[in-house]
Amino acid sequence: FRVTLTPIRRRDKGVAGAIAVLQDVTEAEKLEQSRREFVANVSHELRTPLTTIKSYAEALDDGAIDEPPLAERFVGVIRSETERMIRLVTDLLHLSRFDSRRNQLRRQKTDLAEMLEEVVDRFSFQLRQKAITVTVKVDHRQKTAWLDRDGIDQVLDNLVSNAIKYTLDGGAIDISAKSNEAGQLAISVKDTGIGIPKKDLNRIFERFYRVDKARSRNMGGTGLGLSIAREIVRAHGGAILLESETNVGTVVTVLLPIVPEGSESA
Ligand code: ADP
Repeated sequence: FRVTLTPIRRRDKGVAGAIAVLQDVTEAEKLEQSRREFVANVSHELRTPLTTIKSYAEALDDGAIDEPPLAERFVGVIRSETERMIRLVTDLLHLSRFDSRRNQLRRQKTDLAEMLEEVVDRFSFQLRQKAITVTVKVDHRQKTAWLDRDGIDQVLDNLVSNAIKYTLDGGAIDISAKSNEAGQLAISVKDTGIGIPKKDLNRIFERFYRVDKARSRNMGGTGLGLSIAREIVRAHGGAILLESETNVGTVVTVLLPIVPEGSESA
């Protein structure tokens, strides 16, 4: 609490009492703390690849450059760390764009089957590499929707990319879209992957939260995918649900209000 005291004066200038204003600053304090944590996280996440790049560049400088097989490996590390930094910065830009763009969705009429097939196409290389089978199912009663296509594409890319990252070779991913009993559009991405432990489930949408930092990093993750997805879905007036069981798999469901064609915001 912040306390402000104002004396109440009598005519003879003596003090008759005081007015105390107690202001609850918990929310502001929390906001400030999460901002500080965010900046610390971003700095740390950028510092890690930068330190790696620096030490590999120094090793090249110290002679590794004259040993072609070694030099090739070091350059490879430098390149992949740079790519991870680019992904991180791109993700941060997406976050700040959606933070400030809440009510300016650019909705368009979207064919759901086409949208989901296109997501699968974007990942066809990785899917083939891991021999993961994919099915896409769209409810015939809900073939189209009025969505911000760029935003929802980004959400789906993040969810499908996670499903692939955290599913072992030979697994399966099912993507479906249907309208539910509550009159919402429900888009689900289900995988047969490693799952998320119960204790982590409600923290998983926090920026930079990962169940296993090393695994996420090795997979090229930034720890921002789900928080970006949630921002975008919230901007649509929707929600994301997560169900998961360790070593069985995960289902992520995006619930979006079905809005009439032509409407501007959520
Ligand atoms: P990352 O870039 O690390 O994948 P995300 O924000 O997309 O970041 O996800 C946060 C964490 O949630 C991941 O590090 C992972 O631990 C967990 N996670 C997300 N999706 C899945 C999934 N489909 N299966 C298992 N774990 C998942």
